[in-house]
Amino acid sequence: EHRNPAQPEFHQAAREVLESLAPVVAARPEYAEAGLIERLCEPERQIVFRVPWQDDRGRVRVNRGFRVEFNSALGPYKGGLRFHPSVDLGVIKFLGFEQIFKNALTGLGIGGGKGGSDFDPRGRSDAEVMRFCQSFMTELYRHIGEHTDVPAGDIGVGGREIGYLFGQYRRITNRWEAGVLTGKGPNWGGSLIRPEATGYGNVLFTAAMLRERGETLEGRTAVVSGSGNVAIHTIQKLTALGANAVTCSDSSGYVVDEKGIDLDLLKQVKEVERARVDTYAERRGASARFVPGRRVWEVPADIALPSATQNELDADDAATLIRGGVKVVSEGANMPTTPEAVRLFQQAGVSFGPGKAANAGGVAVSALEMAQNHARTSWPAERVEEELTRIMNDIHRTCHETAERYGAPGDYVTGANIAGFERVADAMSAQGVI
Ligand code: NDP
Repeated sequence: EHRNPAQPEFHQAAREVLESLAPVVAARPEYAEAGLIERLCEPERQIVFRVPWQDDRGRVRVNRGFRVEFNSALGPYKGGLRFHPSVDLGVIKFLGFEQIFKNALTGLGIGGGKGGSDFDPRGRSDAEVMRFCQSFMTELYRHIGEHTDVPAGDIGVGGREIGYLFGQYRRITNRWEAGVLTGKGPNWGGSLIRPEATGYGNVLFTAAMLRERGETLEGRTAVVSGSGNVAIHTIQKLTALGANAVTCSDSSGYVVDEKGIDLDLLKQVKEVERARVDTYAERRGASARFVPGRRVWEVPADIALPSATQNELDADDAATLIRGGVKVVSEGANMPTTPEAVRLFQQAGVSFGPGKAANAGGVAVSALEMAQNHARTSWPAERVEEELTRIMNDIHRTCHETAERYGAPGDYVTGANIAGFERVADAMSAQGVI
C-alpha cells in the first residue's frame, strides 16, 4: 500500500485476487520464484495526460486523462474507457487489473488495460462531448493501435463517444484502422450484438449457475441496478428468457415496476432523451414507482444483478437480499459487491458470479469485433450471439471446474481468479522476465 498510496479500489481488487491464489502458489512454487505476482501487480505502462477543451460558453476546462496498459502477455491491451467524475488513477488501475484476468478467461488473445477521464458528461451538450473526445484522442492516439492497445466503452462512454474518438483517430493518423477501437457503429466496423453483449452475457452466466442448482430463469423475479448499457440489455435478456425484471436505478434512486420493466420506455428515456429513471416512473403509470435516494436491494427477489458501479452492494444490502430469499447474485458491473457482502452470500449458499467471469461477454464480443475487422467482414447477429453463448458457457464451466480442482466447489470467485491467473502466468513464464 505504501507503493500505491490513495488507491483503495486497486488495493481491494488486488487483495481479492491474491487471497484466492494461495493454493496455486503453494502447488506451483515456480510461479513465486519467477516473481509473477509482483510483475502482475505492476502495470507495464501508465499514461496520465492533460485534456483541455472549451465549453459552449468558450470557457477553457481542463480534465485529466488516463490509460493504464497493464498486461500484454496474451495479446494487445484491451479494456474500456470510463468518463465519470469519480475516475482517478486508483479506479483505472483496479479496472485494468480485473481486466487482465477477465480477458484471460474468455480464452481469446487479449491483454488487459483500462482508461478514462474525470470528465462528467452529464448535462454536457453533444458539441461539448465531441470537443472533449477530440482533445482526449489528440493525446491518446499515439499510445494505441490495433496491435498495441484497443480501447472500448465503459461508464459514460457509449456509441456516441466511440464515434467521436474514432473520427479524431482517423483524422490524425490518416488511416482507416477499424481494429483500434471497439463498440463502433454497425455500419462502420462495429459488431452486431456488441452493445447487448455484457448484459446478455451476464444473464447467460446466471442461467448457467441456476442450471447447476437444477433450476431455470423461467418465472423468477430479478432485481437489476443501473440503467445504462449493461442494465438495459440485462433486463432485455431476462425478459426474453421468461424472468421478471422489476427494477432499474441511477444515482438519484430506483424504480420498482410490479409488471416488469417496460424496455421500450426505458430505452426511450435513457438512450433517446438521456433523462433520469424518475421520468420512467412518471410515464409508466400505476405499476411503477420511483424511490429517491435508495438502492434496489430492498426489493425481494430470487436473482440480483448489480449493473451500475463499484461497491454499490454492501454487507447490509447482502443481508437484506438473503432475508428476501435471493438464490443467485451475478455481477454485471465491475466489483459492485463489497468483500464482506461476497462472504455473506457464499456463507448463505447463494451462487455468486464475480464480474471478471459474469460480465466478460462484452469484452469477448469486442474481441470478435476485432476479428471481423481484421478479416474485413461482418457476421450476422445470430452468429455473434451463438459465439457469445458458447463463450459464457465455457467461462462458467472453467470457473466451476477450477474451483472444484482446488477444493472449493461452487466458489466461482476462487475458480475465476485461479483460472484467469494460470493462463496469464503461463504466458508470462514462457516469455521470460519482462
Ligand atoms: P453506463 O454509463 O451506460 O451506465 C452506468 C449506470 O450506472 C447508469 O445508470 C448510472 O447512473 C449508474 N451509476 C454510475 N455510477 C453510479 C454511482 N456512483 N451510483 C449509482 N449509480 C451509478 O455504463 P455501463 O452500463 O457501460 O457500465 C456499468 C457497469 O458495468 C460498470 O461497472 C462497468 O465497468 C461495467 N461493465 C461494462 C461493460 C460494457 O460493455 N459497457 C463491460 C463489462 C463491465 P447515473 O447516470 O446516475 O450515473
